[in-house]
Amino acid sequence: MKFIDEYRDAHAARQFSEGLHRITTKPWTIMEVCGGQTHSIVKFGIDELLPPAITLVHGPGCPVCVTPLEKIEKAIEIAATPNVLFCSFGDMLRVPGASRDLLAVKAEGGDVRIVYSPLDALKLAMDNPEREVVFFAVGFETTAPANAMAVYQAAQKDVRNFSLLVSHVLVPPAMEAILSFPEHRVQGFLAAGHVCAVMGYWEYEPIAARYHVPIVVTGFEPVDILQGIYMCIRQLEEGRAEVENQYARSVNKAGNQPAQKLIREVFRVVPRQWRGIGEIPQSGLGLEEKYARFDAETRFGVAHHTADEPAECISGLILQGIKKPFECPAFGGRCTPERPMGATMVSSEGACAAYYHYRRKS
Ligand code: SF4
Repeated sequence: MKFIDEYRDAHAARQFSEGLHRITTKPWTIMEVCGGQTHSIVKFGIDELLPPAITLVHGPGCPVCVTPLEKIEKAIEIAATPNVLFCSFGDMLRVPGASRDLLAVKAEGGDVRIVYSPLDALKLAMDNPEREVVFFAVGFETTAPANAMAVYQAAQKDVRNFSLLVSHVLVPPAMEAILSFPEHRVQGFLAAGHVCAVMGYWEYEPIAARYHVPIVVTGFEPVDILQGIYMCIRQLEEGRAEVENQYARSVNKAGNQPAQKLIREVFRVVPRQWRGIGEIPQSGLGLEEKYARFDAETRFGVAHHTADEPAECISGLILQGIKKPFECPAFGGRCTPERPMGATMVSSEGACAAYYHYRRKS
């Protein structure tokens, strides 16, 4: 299949693997930011093709995993409210809250629906004017344009029974936060190709310069990831710290300008809680003042709810690249995809779920 086969080509993969063995002279630790990349690395055994001196650690780029517990609790409370039609992407339904998840609300009679686009939720609001329709707007810069479009269209059409529970997060502030942790061990990044398809990669250049880390914009197929790692290691070995673009078939430096304009129209940058990590300044998106009437937290009076993480779950350390899933005492025993304790076991992009599915113990 075009655009798949050439990026899963065994000969090309072997060439990058051999190249890495040739150029690597000392230990290096690289973080892939995106959960989709983590999944590919574990699924295809990419880390097993690397020289032993290269360590891959898994970053916070799974939106389901980093949505804070208190936001899940708010979603559950809103979804259980009479007359609410609560819409979400499917993988949020099984994320455990403090006592239950959205699927349990649905089982108890709540009207919780899986949609594939926020525009589907907006249509439901227009078709059901007597109901309150809420969309759970999670994700990185990749999902922000569609969510912004839903709010923009709701405002244009004066749809008053539609709102968003917003939990958007931004990648560059998270990378800076990770580099600021005293225990961090990240020496280079693979940046998420799909985020950069929207935002470009101009935001990463000050980070590479300030922290002296190479950042390689990378795709998601095995050859993409091996090439991204090769480009990153080559920079490290040569003492360079630049932003390079492995994913040039989809990404340019400026990104998708109309999408960025729409994001700026509807959202503003705000501080945001990250599950397992805590608050990162200026790391999220909230609704702009002129769209504040679409904010579900205000509409349903849940803005000040808080919740505590289960003490045993070390997903925060995993998302910072400090620990691996198999180092968690609950991994594969008390915590499995069927009975997840933390968000990194729920989503297919979560590091714990990826290690569990592919039976990885190292
Ligand atoms: S295995 Fe479960 S409890 Fe342990 S870090 Fe992963 S999600 Fe948390």
